[in-house]
Amino acid sequence: MRIALQLAEQSQLNGDVPFGAVIVKNRCVLAAIGNSEHADQNVTRHAEVKAVSAASTLTGTRNLTGCTIYSTVEPCPMCAGAIFHACIDRVVYGMSRDDLPHLFRSRAIRLWDLAQDWHYNPQITGGVLKDEAIAAFSNYNDAFRVAHTHQDEESQPSGFFSTLALQ
Ligand SMILES: [Zn+2]
Repeated sequence: MRIALQLAEQSQLNGDVPFGAVIVKNRCVLAAIGNSEHADQNVTRHAEVKAVSAASTLTGTRNLTGCTIYSTVEPCPMCAGAIFHACIDRVVYGMSRDDLPHLFRSRAIRLWDLAQDWHYNPQITGGVLKDEAIAAFSNYNDAFRVAHTHQDEESQPSGFFSTLALQ
């Protein structure tokens, strides 16, 4: 988890959300990677999805049975899908959305609900080095909030149809 936290810091230095993930099997690190969704302008570039992809590339298999993923944050539904598809046995995360309620909307469907919906039963452990994971947001916090407040103010109407309306 300490490696994941360092990668989260690196993501922040690159202008991204400070999340990191590491996949380990038999005490060997198969993947260690940070979030780059802003740097890459690609929403699939979450740390956990990237880590699953890198570990599969390294091992040459889509099946990551026997692996543990360490993530600085409770994986989102997209990342949980990748983790469960890959049959990762253990998920360890730092903070959850509940830990930063002023930044994140709470989520009605949680990681363990998604696992159950997949008929999948990974071992899930939360709150590991949670304080450090939250601390990573101490510098990121303001920029994130300002960006989202600004976006909210300008979001009427928003998206594809408003883009069309402007053309
Ligand atoms: Zn995610």
